[in-house]
Amino acid sequence: RAKADGRNTARVYNKNLKDEETQRVRLARDLEAAIPANELRLVFQPIADTISLKIVAYEALLRWRHPSLGDIPPDIFVPIAESSGLIGAIGSWVIDEALRAASAWDPKVSLAMNLSPIQFRSVGLAAEICDAALRWDVDFERLELEVTESATLMGFQRDNVLATLEKLRKLGAKVVMDDFGTGHSSLGNLKEFTFDKIKIDRSFVATMNSHASSSSIVRATIGLGKSLGLIIVAEGVETEEQLSVLRRWGCDQVQGFLIGKPMDRFDLVGNGMVLVGP
Ligand code: C2E
Ligand code: MG
Ligand code: MG
Ligand code: MG
Repeated sequence: RAKADGRNTARVYNKNLKDEETQRVRLARDLEAAIPANELRLVFQPIADTISLKIVAYEALLRWRHPSLGDIPPDIFVPIAESSGLIGAIGSWVIDEALRAASAWDPKVSLAMNLSPIQFRSVGLAAEICDAALRWDVDFERLELEVTESATLMGFQRDNVLATLEKLRKLGAKVVMDDFGTGHSSLGNLKEFTFDKIKIDRSFVATMNSHASSSSIVRATIGLGKSLGLIIVAEGVETEEQLSVLRRWGCDQVQGFLIGKPMDRFDLVGNGMVLVGP
């Protein structure tokens, strides 16, 4: 399940544990202690306007520093949290912590958060997000809720998920289809549900300048998104070459190591970020 940047870390602890199941059980047990032990934290990665490179949002990304195994990537522990029933508590922590951070930012800058489809099983999810936004005095218009199409829109929760998202959307939050192109029925999902924004998966961006098929997919997605009136974001932008192609094709926003790596919330200052309040 580890992908791209998670691979190295995953290999390190794989060597030390007998098999994947032992590892999963151990991590699930340890993860339960992670919130009270303060081992979880959020980092924030900038999303910029493609033309001006002005930061328009930060995406909150979860990190877990395991006391003996070190950093475990979210591609490893989020699925464990989902299957072990811990994602509810962890997701609630993320919502509160992310909004707390955003309350100190320039109010023109939005907050993007990832939501697991399992979190939608709780009927209180919309209320929870509302409460946190009110508690931290962050306007709903600044919220961008990222869901992945395969997990969210093809599961048995589908109707629940769509109803909750529609509720949050009516309040002003934007709904974002994450990792676009990696699911199974992208076009159908776009037709059936109103998204505000789509993020082109970084696997397409990474091979855009070497594979004609990736570049066609990126270009076509930008065109499709535009014709549907959606904002298009490209993930995983690492080179100037990728940026200039995305500019030429009219991609609205970019995210990736070229623009900025995920940062601690205290390090956002001096990074084009104006802090207001404490
Ligand atoms: P995502 O939402 O698609 O997040 C983007 C991932 O791409 C992040 O990995 C980010 O660090 C990485 N990335 C950004 N720019 C670049 C780049 O230029 N090059 C490369 N190689 N990678 C780049 P990360 O932080 O490891 O997160 C992985 C996934 O874990 C996320 O994918 C998301 O699906 C999930 N995740 C992270 N935080 C949360 C959370 O709070 N809740 C839930 N449910 N899932 C989360
Ligand atoms: Mg995301
Ligand atoms: Mg993504
Ligand atoms: Mg992803």
